[in-house]
Amino acid sequence: MSQEASKGVSLEAIASLCKRRGFIYQGSDVYGGLAGTWDYGPLGVALKRNIMNLWWKMFVEERDDMLGVDAAILMNQKVWQASGHTETFTDPLVECSNCHGRFRADKIDASQCPSCGQKGTFGEPRQFNMMFKTNVGAIEDENSISYLRPETAQGIFTNYKNVVDSFYPDVPFGIAQQGKAFRNEISPRDFVFRSREFEQMEIEYFVNKNDWEKEFEKWVKDIEHYLIELGLPTSKVHKVEVPEAERAHYSKRTIDFEFDFPSIGRDELLGLAYRTDFDLMNIQKASGKSMEYRPKDGGKPFVPHVIEPSFGVERTIMAVLSAAYTNDEVNGEKRSYLKIPPQLAPVKVAVSPLLKNKPELVKKAREVYDMLKNPPVEMTAPRNLYKGAVMWDDNGNIGKRYRRQDEIGTPECLTIDFQTLEDNTITIRDRDTTNQTRIPIDHLKMKSSFIEFEK
Ligand code: ATP
Repeated sequence: MSQEASKGVSLEAIASLCKRRGFIYQGSDVYGGLAGTWDYGPLGVALKRNIMNLWWKMFVEERDDMLGVDAAILMNQKVWQASGHTETFTDPLVECSNCHGRFRADKIDASQCPSCGQKGTFGEPRQFNMMFKTNVGAIEDENSISYLRPETAQGIFTNYKNVVDSFYPDVPFGIAQQGKAFRNEISPRDFVFRSREFEQMEIEYFVNKNDWEKEFEKWVKDIEHYLIELGLPTSKVHKVEVPEAERAHYSKRTIDFEFDFPSIGRDELLGLAYRTDFDLMNIQKASGKSMEYRPKDGGKPFVPHVIEPSFGVERTIMAVLSAAYTNDEVNGEKRSYLKIPPQLAPVKVAVSPLLKNKPELVKKAREVYDMLKNPPVEMTAPRNLYKGAVMWDDNGNIGKRYRRQDEIGTPECLTIDFQTLEDNTITIRDRDTTNQTRIPIDHLKMKSSFIEFEK
């Protein structure tokens, strides 16, 4: 078997796999779609949850300086006035006078229309606000205006005081949130990379201003650790210091973590920004409520400064799929498979009877499937964590099943055959090596007797 790096993998190949195998579909597909929206299918929702749960585990549950919130998407319009979004959350929009195509002026060469090819058809850019506006309640007036949040961060800042009052954590501490964000992007593009509805995972980390540099460096390391757990090769991740002229006006330092995406090349995966005390001071001014933190040692109260790691879930999924997508050849037959870290794999194990028309094989295979799907309490092997991530697969011949499971990144396939009926052993087939080994069924249950699983 020859294995080669998946050179030449395209975004189209990944998008097509996602559609075919039930990871990600175009939103409103049956009605011709809605640009910039995507729906997650059965495998996509599992992958997305695994990525988001890993983040939550590493950044919230396993740390003692982090607290979680889940704020409402609709917020009082004052939030977006105070944060500056109503005034400045804009992109420069140009329209071609020939074909009427609309583009982001900073993303194209404005001397020629990228759609119709005409030259000199663009006028001056106008600032286009990317927030989706809506009205809350039955009356549509100025006071009822609200927006679908364009970032999760403000839901954290507006709860900073609530969390401090309830928990009085020591500084430094962070508040984390995961959830939907909406941006009326001028040109959504590149699969889920630039969507109009997407998901963010954000942390606002509150520090004493004298410590921001030290804490910022720690966050760089913590982010790198997470990206490694996602299986992203460090050679494809690039930390880019954003120069002052390109930083948001409130940021004193920003590092963009870029990734080498297939087809589109290097682009932003996530950002890490030092936001000073900009947001809390704005809230303090606009709400009239003090955002000061009272040190427990009786020191002078202060408004904390903030370091913000901001992750986009869709771009993370794209990076994970791109890194995992591998082409190789097994016994002269080409295959594509997802070499995804087992902890992220949507399906952990597939269970198959060798032949689906042999009731005795099906019965035995069902027993194994049920055991993994609903593990008995005495089961101590790591497989007791699989639960819902077990798939029954009796479709087509065994070779086809293996290919299909490879394509969706299932690390192990278990096959029940006639020998199983005689000696209670089954075949375990490994996704990456395609090696097949026989083990007693009982070894699936007991950790101590299944060492190779933990390699
Ligand atoms: P870009 O410059 O690419 O528009 P941004 O700098 O505006 O991105 P941020 O406001 O820093 O992005 O948002 C934080 C993260 O949210 C980004 O790093 C990205 O992962 C994600 N994100 C932002 N906009 C989108 C979008 N339209 N679709 C998918 N993910 C997005």
